[in-house]
Amino acid sequence: YQAKETGKNKYQLYQSNYDQLTRRLKLENDLQCALERKEFYLVYQPQVDISTGRIVGAEALIRWNHSTMGIIPPDEFIPIAEDIGCITAIGEWVMREACTQNVCWIDLGLTPICVSVNLSARQLQQERFVETVCDILAETNLDPNFLRLEITESMMMQNTAASIRTLHKLRGLGVSLAIDDFGKGYSSLSYLKDFPVNVLKIDRSFIQGMTQNDYDKAIVSSIITLAHNLKIKVVAEGAEMIEEVVCLLHYGCDEVQGYSFSKPMLAEDLGELLRIDDPYKAQLEPWTYEPR
Ligand code: C2E
Ligand code: MG
Ligand code: MG
Ligand code: MG
Repeated sequence: YQAKETGKNKYQLYQSNYDQLTRRLKLENDLQCALERKEFYLVYQPQVDISTGRIVGAEALIRWNHSTMGIIPPDEFIPIAEDIGCITAIGEWVMREACTQNVCWIDLGLTPICVSVNLSARQLQQERFVETVCDILAETNLDPNFLRLEITESMMMQNTAASIRTLHKLRGLGVSLAIDDFGKGYSSLSYLKDFPVNVLKIDRSFIQGMTQNDYDKAIVSSIITLAHNLKIKVVAEGAEMIEEVVCLLHYGCDEVQGYSFSKPMLAEDLGELLRIDDPYKAQLEPWTYEPR
């Protein structure tokens, strides 16, 4: 009777909620030991100087190769790691791994690039966070000029005064700071004044809207001008089409990070790419793409 009354759709709704919940609980449980099982790895997405076409940086992006569920994207497991508190350990692993890898590339004699690492709010709030960064730099022997930390505006909204103090200390170490996904959340122009950042990354929604509407064009060109007036460098995120890159070049954007140049890739493949002089030509090779 009950099945008839509630109907098939309702049953499916319960079923899908149930599936979601069990998946979440499984990920929550398995995240606890993923680090020690060495199930995480990093991929790197090149950041290209738009006027020379040279790779000048790379963003480290985490992947979780789950033993039975395959590759889990960070958008799914990072929020869970934040909830259950293991994000600080994972974040520390990411930073150590990215710094170690960058030193490897430098030791190969390649032109040094700046490696960017994403931070979570919880990491920034840790009492010993600045010391941890300092320790990792010393341990890996990476020149702080070649490490960049990415923060989002929403991270700064909690505990603003303490966060600003932390950011000043990080700048004191010599690392650079970027605001990630700029324009996506509750953007406030005062952030650019109050936060000691060197780089602003324009959110990809604006970049991808540029070829469709003049509003996004106006927003992007205004952000670039504003940032430059404040001596802040601009990276455009998620440029997928050549038309977008042409537009960004015209607006004086400094760097581009997007599929138009390259998807995130394994460290050894980026090493190969760095060896090659002409990244425009190099990006046509299939091995520059992240294996899925
Ligand atoms: P994010 O920091 O904004 O990183 C950029 C994301 O955009 C990456 O997704 C990248 O693969 C994607 N992307 C780059 N170019 C394009 C493009 O042209 N088109 C499209 N459609 N997408 C593009 P990914 O790797 O899935 O990471 C998603 C988010 O997960 C990151 O966004 C970041 O917020 C978070 N994340 C990744 N790694 C870490 C980490 O180590 N620690 C923390 N706390 N968060 C991380
Ligand atoms: Mg980022
Ligand atoms: Mg971003
Ligand atoms: Mg993001």
